[in-house]
Amino acid sequence: MKKIVDYGIDEKPDKAIKITIKLRKLFPKEISEFGAIYFEEGSEREKEFIDHARKKRIKISRRGAFISCTRSEITRFPFFYLSVKADRDYGQKEKAFDMSLACGGGVDEIFCETGIKQTKKIIIDPKKSKKLDIMDVPFTSNPPAFIVSKRLKDLLEAHGVTGCKFIPCLELGKDYPEEITLLHTHDESLAETADYFQLLITETVINPPSVGYVKIKDSCPKCKTVQNMEIETNPVFTIDDLRKTVFQVFNQYSTSNSGIIRIPVEIPIVSSRILDLILENKMKGIREYLGDPPIQYGIVEIRGIVTAD
Ligand SMILES: [Zn+2]
Repeated sequence: MKKIVDYGIDEKPDKAIKITIKLRKLFPKEISEFGAIYFEEGSEREKEFIDHARKKRIKISRRGAFISCTRSEITRFPFFYLSVKADRDYGQKEKAFDMSLACGGGVDEIFCETGIKQTKKIIIDPKKSKKLDIMDVPFTSNPPAFIVSKRLKDLLEAHGVTGCKFIPCLELGKDYPEEITLLHTHDESLAETADYFQLLITETVINPPSVGYVKIKDSCPKCKTVQNMEIETNPVFTIDDLRKTVFQVFNQYSTSNSGIIRIPVEIPIVSSRILDLILENKMKGIREYLGDPPIQYGIVEIRGIVTAD
């Protein structure tokens, strides 16, 4: 396990960009093309960076930190953020959601989707399949719709997953009685013949994680969902905030200055045991948690057990 520290340049944006471009020549591996500055905590390179900034009188500050672990270290941590590839062409998610329930308020051009509900099964087009075992079908991010292959569903069921339901997907071009297309109508023959299933996470965390001080930039005037914000720290749970289930989601933050706020995304969590199982069985579709800085597996921070700061 290592800690990756994210640094910022404390100057006006124009000046900060110019400084970052110069710094990048000296620290090409540590400063990304998008200007993110990150170093492994305690490393020689971090020391060189701090020394250089001091000599050149560049004002830098620590913005935050991330924990990074290798594949073999996964089971040392209790929970991970579930981060999967998206398949844009594959599913018809929009037909499954009742948009008339959306809040519809919003800031500028943003249409507030809070409140929408999935009422029908997801329709997929097998011809466009990228043959992933787990994927998200984009359309709205709240909530996500995870699709799993039959082989992954069977594996998960054999290992006693909790906090989720498997709902068979419908196939594009096939005719189904209206009743069968409804989300929660069970049909034995569909369940037996489907190649893909929606992994519907049914559990929500007990309490939202703390993010410290929040600077709210935009929130929906109607339902108060915060659309744009800056948070002080990564989300940190206490162990009692989390359920013992394999899967759970959250869509709120607990803040030190604005109480509990609603966020426009639903963030999924998976137990390390099951993430390990998915990777061990070479299931396709898990993607890196963060690209910039590069963090392969998103460790859920738990106070007293695992935190970055
Ligand atoms: Zn709203």
